[in-house]
Amino acid sequence: MTVGSPTDGSSARDPFEYAPAPESRAVVSIATSYGLFINGTFVDPIDGTRFKTINPATEEVLSEISQAGPADVDRAVAAARTAFQQVWGPMSGRDRAKYLFRIARIIQERSRELAVLETLDNGKPIRESRDVDLPLVAAHFFYHAGWADKLAYAGLGANPRPLGVAAQIIPWNFPLLMLAWKIAPALACGNTVVLKPAETTPLTALAFADICKQADLPPGVVNILTGDGTTGRALVEHPDVNKVAFTGSTEVGKAIQRAVAGTNKKLTLELGGKAANIIFDDAPIDQAVEGIVNGIFFNQGHVCCAGSRLLLQESTAEAVIDALKRRLGTLRLGDPMDKNTDIGAINSAEQWSRIDALVKAGEDEGAERWSAPCQIPERGWWFPPTLFTSVTQAHRIAREEIFGPVLSVLTFRTPDEAIEKANNTPYGLSAGIWTEKGSRILWMANRLRAGVVWANTYNRFDPTSPFGGFKESGFGREGGRQGLAGYLERVS
Ligand code: NAP
Ligand code: MG
Repeated sequence: MTVGSPTDGSSARDPFEYAPAPESRAVVSIATSYGLFINGTFVDPIDGTRFKTINPATEEVLSEISQAGPADVDRAVAAARTAFQQVWGPMSGRDRAKYLFRIARIIQERSRELAVLETLDNGKPIRESRDVDLPLVAAHFFYHAGWADKLAYAGLGANPRPLGVAAQIIPWNFPLLMLAWKIAPALACGNTVVLKPAETTPLTALAFADICKQADLPPGVVNILTGDGTTGRALVEHPDVNKVAFTGSTEVGKAIQRAVAGTNKKLTLELGGKAANIIFDDAPIDQAVEGIVNGIFFNQGHVCCAGSRLLLQESTAEAVIDALKRRLGTLRLGDPMDKNTDIGAINSAEQWSRIDALVKAGEDEGAERWSAPCQIPERGWWFPPTLFTSVTQAHRIAREEIFGPVLSVLTFRTPDEAIEKANNTPYGLSAGIWTEKGSRILWMANRLRAGVVWANTYNRFDPTSPFGGFKESGFGREGGRQGLAGYLERVS
């Protein structure tokens, strides 16, 4: 890709090429096949079924992965139960903290390897897995290690108790980070875990199993079961599970809620979103444009809290859209292992088709499509940064989660209208506000029905800050003191 840039002070724009800056993949060694991690060791699945995981940027098969069946789910839950009763439950918080600190430090030590592995399996740019995912993964373990011996001060009663065995199911968009959001608080609170990573991104969860061994974590405290949705369902429905924690689509979340209804299982759901990123005419345009780009094009838009609906105050709409198109023209799409890449591969053919179908619906319903001009590599799955103008609230692209690099632009005149449009969605995970007025930020934040509201920034995450949704975005919080509540029983 070529970007014009005057380097000699002349007005002529000499095109220049970025030199390739590939990250080395020599830091990872991927086995040809992996077993299930049960009771501290890797074992073969009982019925012997396996599936392949691929690199979505090249379609190369990376490894063969075990598909856990119901008998494997039984074994893993039994191992987690024994570890809970005999080792992890009775252990003091102070001792649990030592293990969590040890895991956090090993993650830091192995962060380059884990970032490369994540990028190969998921397709996200190495710059993001290296600079965002991995530091946050380590931070989650450090933060929760700090809580393990202080649970009595979390505001959940003087002697809160762990729930028991936690079944945890995660999606493919931030594989290791979602694992950290699930496992770190569960272990800090004294629960044991059976976790199922997404079918298309199992490799970093399996590397995490190796880290548990390296940290000498007692067998059975963490069990990793790879597989598809049927494995997830068997895990959710297992009678000896005390807690189900799920991150994924609203559709599967509803099915899980039905499966858990009438049992004593505690449930937290982190589901989809359709966030409004709201730009007032007094916002600094250049900063807002960076925030818009980060809001929807970070991680190819595969972000539950992505700012996928851009709400522009009418008086500034034209200027923002022009600046945004200019900026999108400079994004580099391509090899995720290149350190200069901004937009990586779409995680799977299935997800690509979903994005494509919604974009076609946008065109058919009369919205105006603009896509950044960029070369699409021949192999793998790619989608250019795309924005739609002339969008109305009735359009599917304004209502449904696209989960891809596609932005729908709407306009508003008054703050009241902005609130009405922003809240006009079945979801309620996040929102963004861009204005120079602090009072307006507070006025807006009080009225937005969203779990997280960012002001003059977007997609900022911190383990100390609770994250979660309203309405069809789910319930329960992850992170912060509030996140501990999902893994503890209040005993007064
Ligand atoms: P998904 O299809 O719901 O899958 C999520 C996980 O559930 C995967 O591990 C999946 O296995 C498993 N699963 C599928 N069917 C199941 C069933 N019947 N019972 C139990 N588990 C089942 O979601 P996705 O398409 O992979 O992920 C994207 C969605 O996640 C988006 O809607 C996004 O907004 C949401 N998300 C939310 C948050 C948040 O914090 N709120 C964060 C990230 C993503 P397979 O992979 O094998 O299908
Ligand atoms: Mg899926």
